[in-house]
Amino acid sequence: MYTLEFDENLCKTCPTCDCLVKCQYMDLSVDEAKEEMIKIINGDDSFVLQDCVTCYGCEEYCKRGNHPFYLITERREEKGILTAPRAITKQWINIGEPRGKFKTGDIKKKILSFGFMPELLELTQGRLFDDLMPSYVFGQEFFCNVVYIHFANTSIIKERLPMVIDNFRKLDVEEVVCMHDECYGSFASLAPAYGMEVPFKPIHYFEYLYNRLRELGDEIGPLNIKVAYQRPCSSRLSSEKHHFVADIMQLVGAELVERRYQNENALCCGDVLGMIYGYDLRNDIQKRNIDDMVEHGAGYCVFNCPACQNALAAKVTKRGIRPIHIIDLCRMAIGEK
Ligand code: SF4
Ligand code: SF4
Repeated sequence: MYTLEFDENLCKTCPTCDCLVKCQYMDLSVDEAKEEMIKIINGDDSFVLQDCVTCYGCEEYCKRGNHPFYLITERREEKGILTAPRAITKQWINIGEPRGKFKTGDIKKKILSFGFMPELLELTQGRLFDDLMPSYVFGQEFFCNVVYIHFANTSIIKERLPMVIDNFRKLDVEEVVCMHDECYGSFASLAPAYGMEVPFKPIHYFEYLYNRLRELGDEIGPLNIKVAYQRPCSSRLSSEKHHFVADIMQLVGAELVERRYQNENALCCGDVLGMIYGYDLRNDIQKRNIDDMVEHGAGYCVFNCPACQNALAAKVTKRGIRPIHIIDLCRMAIGEK
């Protein structure tokens, strides 16, 4: 069985305890944060195990290479602290179950992975992808299963993720461009944290888009628009790739508005959190987030995750902001949209 590699000495000597001090859903001093982390490490009860809303943020706040949110998730599962009713958790787990209905294109050494997000198949069109398509995979067999950390269930990830990795291994691919950053996070962060070997190089699609746009440089027409970026929870697992948002916006001539809920201080779309913890939490997160976009004059809301876009598109539209996926924004810049 895979176990989380977590260095408790890093926490015992941590000068900031940023994991919990920066948490947007709890209010802890450094001393209190350290005390709670030690309790969590020791397997003792901690209110954090009850109050954490699974935003993934502390995976980014910890700059010492530990995995506080994975540890919280482990302890919750060990103690039977459910985040959602069993029926909802089961329903989600069934969605990701392999069913032999996956699709593969003309597989080369480098492929695009759509995980199990059908929206990505539609988004991935045009010249941005014509050097790779139709080398792709799609389906539950290639679904990273990381979403189950929202449900305090790492055992299903430990069971399925090695099988998913093995499915890629069977294709004998060398590079996988992950079109969903949760998939990238699973191969670049979660799998290594559990000692799972990843036999290919995962590439975040932001990095791919950035490089592809540079290749198409002459064809880019500056968009001259003001945008707010909707950062998803999953991007906390690949925070080292977050700078590509600003890099891409610069290339396409879009101004990222300086707003309160951005970068480390971003708010997620609130959708899964609402499903688990109730609509009051979701409504509060979404209202603060969209108010912030409006107050700072964003004309567009740029999405990374299609699930965030499904959750927020109508709501930002009602407030006069146009929703757009980052791929479509890039296609707009090269005259395809
Ligand atoms: S998880 Fe990271 S930030 Fe939190 S106490 Fe440990 S080392 Fe410090
Ligand atoms: S996952 Fe989010 S809510 Fe939970 S402890 Fe970490 S930062 Fe706080």
